[in-house]
Amino acid sequence: MSDKTAITPTRAQDFPEWYQQVVKAADLAENSETRGCMVIKPWGYGIWELIQQQLDRKFKATGHQNAYFPLLIPISYLEKEAEHAEGFATECAVVTHHRLEPQKDPVTGKIKMVPTGELAEPYIIRPTSETIIGAAFSRWVQSYRDLPLLINQWANVMRWEMRPRLFLRTAEFLWQEGHTAHETKDEAITETRLMHGVYEEFLKNHLAIPVIPGEKTENERFPGAEMTLTVEAMVQDKKAIQAGTSHYLGQNFSKAQEIAFTGREGTKQYVHTTSWGVSTRMIGTLIMAHSDDDGLVLPPRVATQQIVIVPVTPKEDTKQAVLDACQALAETLRLEKKYHGDPVRVHVDARDIQGGVKKWEWVKKGVPIRIEIGPRDIETRKVCVQRRDRGSNEKEFMDKEDFLQQAMDILQEIHNTLLERATSFRDANIAPCYAIDSFHAHWGQDNPGWLLTPWAGTPEEEDEISKQHKIAIRCLPLDKQDEAEAPCILTGKPTKSRAIWGRSY
Ligand code: AMP
Repeated sequence: MSDKTAITPTRAQDFPEWYQQVVKAADLAENSETRGCMVIKPWGYGIWELIQQQLDRKFKATGHQNAYFPLLIPISYLEKEAEHAEGFATECAVVTHHRLEPQKDPVTGKIKMVPTGELAEPYIIRPTSETIIGAAFSRWVQSYRDLPLLINQWANVMRWEMRPRLFLRTAEFLWQEGHTAHETKDEAITETRLMHGVYEEFLKNHLAIPVIPGEKTENERFPGAEMTLTVEAMVQDKKAIQAGTSHYLGQNFSKAQEIAFTGREGTKQYVHTTSWGVSTRMIGTLIMAHSDDDGLVLPPRVATQQIVIVPVTPKEDTKQAVLDACQALAETLRLEKKYHGDPVRVHVDARDIQGGVKKWEWVKKGVPIRIEIGPRDIETRKVCVQRRDRGSNEKEFMDKEDFLQQAMDILQEIHNTLLERATSFRDANIAPCYAIDSFHAHWGQDNPGWLLTPWAGTPEEEDEISKQHKIAIRCLPLDKQDEAEAPCILTGKPTKSRAIWGRSY
């Protein structure tokens, strides 16, 4: 067996470059001519469509409806909520003109398009839609009987990111943004927690990513939020990725935008709002969480194709029989088998190219199960099964009937293996830390893992220590806010609260 890997460099050699190479080798996406923006190719967009379908069902099952709001937001809307305005000010793309005038260069004769028709009020391209959805909510809500409003939007947004990276941080990205309005604080907080829970469950059961659910500190909160809940994933270089957020916005936006109603006692009240979102960043997260030195490894539920059947056709006279057997198996799987309620996605790769080339293409693309069928297998009624969670070389010959019986279980086993692997990796790389000296020393290592410390510092103290080591408090984990009292790692003040620190993408 050769040590040669399909992806160079390997994860151990250069993780960020390995990531770029996996995205390329799996044909997921590429950088575009537009600064910070990417082209999502069909294999990558297929993953997004599955994420979308599966999350959308969960949003609807929890009572939400989809709607759509304008891409362009009047600047005056942003000005209404001061913290929000300040938070997004440095990342906004601004539309200032509404026309172009062709002008001919007198020397070269080339046409140049010059913006004219300056707008009286510029627009920003939405970096998020609290303000424009808030404006609609203020029209839609009059009485407590109009509440709650439970809206979700699937859209693209734009944030002028300075250090873009495919999927993880792009200037334009695809996401969903939930926006809800409630009569009481309690209801709004229940909603914020509910959707946080939906994200946690989705990441675990659909993407095989075990996340740490927690609350952001004041420093890391969404601009304008009273509380930001996050789901934090650890990827294979032990960095953190904020995979999704759910915000309780209090009455900050409703007071700024007059989202008011007549309450049960006949008095004027302001709604409590929430917002919550996940984006195409989830694709980057799953790549970094599961893939290996041979390429992408896809969790089965979001695999664009779950099973790829490769006909092995060494001789012309048996070729058609092999192709027919492959198509027949694919058809049976599609008609008879469901994985988590959806027909299984099966592809027969009948292209007239060399078998080895095909195999490596599907390895790099991360297909969970590869099947090979050759002339001999038709006679013996066997199939050759290769699982992507078991590297690139392991094969198992199974009776075709047994495979048909077990295929859905194998997909689930693959999911479970990925989840277990990621969970053990994560748990092995979060260390409790109670002494400030070992805390400081920890960040001097290559690829340091996360630290879990008692924390009772101020935002300023957090900021200082974060800058010193290029780290951040990823979250205050929900299940670790009532621990045995211990002195804060920095200030020595006794606290029951624990914080997770780490480097992040
Ligand atoms: P936010 O509205 O800032 O809470 O963002 C919601 C979610 O979108 C975050 O939790 C991220 O997972 C994701 N996100 C934020 N910025 C970007 C970006 N530049 N590219 C891709 N995803 C992003």
